[in-house]
Amino acid sequence: MTNSPTTSSASGSSSSSSGLESQAEEIADIIRESEYVVGMTGAGMSVESGIPPFRGADGLWTKYGNPPMDGYSKFKEDPTGWWNRRTNEKIDAHILELRDALANAKPHAGHYALAALEEQGSLQSVVTQNIDGLDEKAGLKNLKEIHGNRQKLRCIECGDRVSLGEFVPLFAPDPCEKCEGLVKFDTVMFGEPIPDDVMTAARAEIDKADCVLAIGTSATVRPASGLLWIAEAAGATIIEINPTETKLTSLCAVSLRSSAGEALPALLKILSE
Ligand SMILES: [Zn+2]
Repeated sequence: MTNSPTTSSASGSSSSSSGLESQAEEIADIIRESEYVVGMTGAGMSVESGIPPFRGADGLWTKYGNPPMDGYSKFKEDPTGWWNRRTNEKIDAHILELRDALANAKPHAGHYALAALEEQGSLQSVVTQNIDGLDEKAGLKNLKEIHGNRQKLRCIECGDRVSLGEFVPLFAPDPCEKCEGLVKFDTVMFGEPIPDDVMTAARAEIDKADCVLAIGTSATVRPASGLLWIAEAAGATIIEINPTETKLTSLCAVSLRSSAGEALPALLKILSE
């Protein structure tokens, strides 16, 4: 009437570490045979650094409701008002929770392993949907942050970006020094197109890739997720590292059910031998 418990032991904790090792070996073999490996990272990577996701059961939007979808047009209508509201008015609970988490977040072992894989030449670039700047902090160099970086300001006219470091401005920044254009957080707002320069650069990485590592991404948020399907259609081998099954799983040569913090250091260890 019920399945014997022994038939479902593949997901048991005792067998999962050897499963991780053998799958990491499989992934390492694919990477060794590949010419250009691109990592695509999503919210799962940030969650492991304590940053709450927007979507899913524990997501900020699930807890606090969806934010308004017209953030960018509201900002452009009245940028000074936007900055003043941000400073003075009662701020949404989900924004406060996110700001707090972002201020305290540090890269985890998965971020550092990716940077080390890049350094040793096993990984050529990372395209990330995350805004936390942790990839850069961990030392990744060829990095395309398609939703922007929370620690930067960007001119919406010429695309010039300025790093803020730990400093977060409270009032509207001055116009762009290069073109007098309107300056905002680099983070892409609702209703704001992904900046052309970073989207073009991300697409160029995907076009060069013969292997894509999709890490901690549910592969549901466009246009980032579209890049994965473009890569697959162009013949790249897709590998997934994610604790749960995703829309991408059926396309993957290997799907490793693991956190990035566990899987990527294991992969680095194999590729460093
Ligand atoms: Zn400018």
